[in-house]
Amino acid sequence: MSEYKIETKCVQGGYTAGNGEPRQVPIIQSTTFKYTTGEAMGQLFDLEASGYFYSRLQNPTCDTVAAKICEMEGGSAAMLTSSGMAANFLAVFNICSCGDHIVSSASIYGGTYNLFAVTLKRMGIEVTFIAPDCSDEEFEAAFRPETKLVFGETIANPALNVLDIERFACVAHAHGVPLIIDNTFPTPVNCRPFEWGADIVTHSTTKYMDGHGSAVGGAIIDSGKFDWMAHADKYPGLCTPDDSYHGITYAEKFGQGGAYITKATAQLMRDLGVTPAPMSAYILNLGLESLHVRMQRHCDNALKVAKYLESSDKVAWVNYPGLESCRDYALAQKYMPNGTCGVVSFGVKGGREAAGKFMNALKLIAIETHVADARSCCLHPATTTHRQLSDEDLIACGVGPDLVRLSCGIENADDLIADIEQALNS
Ligand SMILES: *Cc1c(COP(=O)(O)O)cnc(C)c1O
Repeated sequence: MSEYKIETKCVQGGYTAGNGEPRQVPIIQSTTFKYTTGEAMGQLFDLEASGYFYSRLQNPTCDTVAAKICEMEGGSAAMLTSSGMAANFLAVFNICSCGDHIVSSASIYGGTYNLFAVTLKRMGIEVTFIAPDCSDEEFEAAFRPETKLVFGETIANPALNVLDIERFACVAHAHGVPLIIDNTFPTPVNCRPFEWGADIVTHSTTKYMDGHGSAVGGAIIDSGKFDWMAHADKYPGLCTPDDSYHGITYAEKFGQGGAYITKATAQLMRDLGVTPAPMSAYILNLGLESLHVRMQRHCDNALKVAKYLESSDKVAWVNYPGLESCRDYALAQKYMPNGTCGVVSFGVKGGREAAGKFMNALKLIAIETHVADARSCCLHPATTTHRQLSDEDLIACGVGPDLVRLSCGIENADDLIADIEQALNS
């Protein structure tokens, strides 16, 4: 499949039916798998043979869909998780332990920010947050001897900053650590971070990949390009024997392309069990089959809506990385020349109250905390997710009181604009 273009991988990647086999990916709804000898099963438990024995660790349906996403990103190995949060947690925890340190862009999804700032801290892992456009000096100053990785989002949710992936990868590699990129918003249809030097990619597949608001899920993909053994002192979990698997050393046994995902599956899935259901993987795959078609429409609609908002005298400001007036337009053009995502943020003139009124007057566009599905929706953080904050606090965390986050679906753009227009006028 690797020779095919992204559109073909979306439709047919990961699964090839044999003669007389199901054309669609089968749902293997089974927790366990049968073996005729104890020795055969023992080999699986020792990681000496590959195969299935218990769906908490691996399931054929989930693996088939992971293989498709792996092809789409151009990686060496991949796994699905039960949510995007689980993907980010496993991606980090696979190479960090108590006493370690992470450098992360501050402009990331709120849930991930909380995971890093609060929950990882309780586990003894510290995070230094840097502005995605910080100076070289600030970037350098964030590193410590115990730093194990750099983290960022291609397009930040909800701030919509575009990350300079190449720059982040260069700095990470100069410090001998990998760059992990959450590529949820552009999807591999619009950006493939491995092509710009990222080492590991994560996704909340709950968003565009599923695309229909049907199944929560996540994915982790390894590029296979990071040489763990060259930094063996930093990554003992990958480069020294694992006693829970009879002394296997992942980086030796599974090589540069397989070590990271094998360890995350064999250790972290085994012990933490953040496993997706085969049915959820199947639903995700249905979404992936049309991802390239939908992303195009999401981006077309968002650009039309953003241009309309820019022309409206009732709108104070518009932020969409596809707009020429946007701060990160040049970065968006470099990393996502075919389009960015369907999410636009803007300010309604009149602040918190006017934005609240605008939201309530919408008819077609629904008020939801979700983004990135086929149906358009929007959120006013100041009266919902961030309602406990004062105007000053809101501005400090980059979510002004007038900010509306609008996720453009794949409906007709004129209908969306008409709904926005009547709501702004009311
Ligand atoms: C939604 C989201 C997540 C979390 O994913 P869930 O599937 O909700 O757990 C992580 N990163 C980004 C960029 C997101 O938008």
